[in-house]
Amino acid sequence: RCDLIVIGGGLAGCEAAWQAANRNLKIKLFEMRPSLMTGAHETGNLAELVCSNSLGSNLIDRASGLLKEELRICGSLLMKAAEKSKIPAGNALAVDRNSFSQFVESELASHPNIEIIREEVKIIPEQIPVILASGPLTSKDLSESIQSITGKENLFFYDAIAPVITYDSINFKTAYKASRYGKGNASEGDYINCPFTKEEYYQFAEALRTAERIALHSFEGEIDQGVNAGKESYFEGCLPVEVLANRNPDALAFGPMRPVGLIDPRTNKRPYAVIQLRQDNLAGSLYNIVGFQTNLKQQEQNRVFHMIPGLENAVFERYGQMHRNTYIASPGLINEFLQLTNDQRIFFAGQLSGVEGYVGNIASGLAAGINASALIHQQPLVRFPDKTMIGALLHYISHAEKKHFQPMKANFGILPPLDDPSRSKQDRGQQYSARSLETIRKLILP
Ligand code: FAD
Repeated sequence: RCDLIVIGGGLAGCEAAWQAANRNLKIKLFEMRPSLMTGAHETGNLAELVCSNSLGSNLIDRASGLLKEELRICGSLLMKAAEKSKIPAGNALAVDRNSFSQFVESELASHPNIEIIREEVKIIPEQIPVILASGPLTSKDLSESIQSITGKENLFFYDAIAPVITYDSINFKTAYKASRYGKGNASEGDYINCPFTKEEYYQFAEALRTAERIALHSFEGEIDQGVNAGKESYFEGCLPVEVLANRNPDALAFGPMRPVGLIDPRTNKRPYAVIQLRQDNLAGSLYNIVGFQTNLKQQEQNRVFHMIPGLENAVFERYGQMHRNTYIASPGLINEFLQLTNDQRIFFAGQLSGVEGYVGNIASGLAAGINASALIHQQPLVRFPDKTMIGALLHYISHAEKKHFQPMKANFGILPPLDDPSRSKQDRGQQYSARSLETIRKLILP
């Protein structure tokens, strides 16, 4: 008997399989390693941590720490594995990666309801409920099969992330709100604009061109043997800005920094160039730099992007980055239960579903496992409340603006605003955390 197939024995897939197996379902968990390796994994272990051995902050008044606590409350296997294998790391939860994997593997292998099959799945199985948790380095054949259900335009292979900054740190003595040609919100405009003089522009373009970049890792070369075989490493549509700046000093002024239709209200003139900031979260507390996906080192992003007029004191919530990352354009394609909207027997979890970061991926695995079980047992599916970090992440990936969708990790900006927010950032963290934990403790899981 097999009630549910889970594809991918990574962070999300192991958590999902465990949750479903504990709900009295027979699970087949497929993992292609070690016979077929990815460009980043080094072992055949289940739940291998591909890079850092830190799962981030363990403080519950930090977004990542709060998410961990919610997962513990919901009975996460991988949080238990992290506790068992933790090593000293101050306020962070760091683990011995081998002990972590071994704990997960032995729990799954000894579970009477789980069969682990070491095989690549090439085609999405038909008829039977399935959780797709094959991660950012999903194999070529499976990627093509996923494309056949999502449409080519809805499956991405690169993360081309632009930096995200906090609204409070923008200097509105220089920056101004406006949309091109006064479109969008008529009174103010939907964008925040940072205007450049000619001199400022060329200084900035030169700094960008010559700034230090992150060396490409070996796994990025892997894409060339993958679905996009034969194509350049970067998609033209999402070139890193430093690559664009390097092509031609004027390229940015005709590209992401073109000033057309953007009169500066202070001078009543069109600036020489403009950088636009777009709202990034529903609360409006975070803004991303439009078209500024980048592969610069973090300290260089700090240096160069602080040259932007209006962003002299900008606080980065997330730095820009580029790496191989297979994920779907989740908003509208999947719902907050992680089900494909037009075939509800198919669930997505992990990085593939548009969630970013180890712990976020574990959380989506937990939610997918619980909801796939509910579907099979014909019970109501579980809506994790928006006030919880798990719920906010699932809500974000299923409801964000699709056109500019980027994978999202746990952060307070995606939670609904507080009724009476404290002025201190630390106190606000505690307020969010108290509200989320109170909410999740009341949640009854089937
Ligand atoms: P994975 O953990 O990758 O699990 C997916 C599994 O599916 C893999 O074991 C894979 O072998 C298997 N698989 C793929 N295709 C098939 C198939 N067709 N059939 C069967 N099995 C298949 N996040 C952080 O928080 N911190 C970091 O330091 C960090 N570093 C990263 C470094 C790299 C190089 C990458 C690519 C991502 C990194 N991430 C990091 C992002 C993300 O959190 C991790 O990739 C995380 O492991 C994703 O979890 P997942 O369960 O979605 O995928």
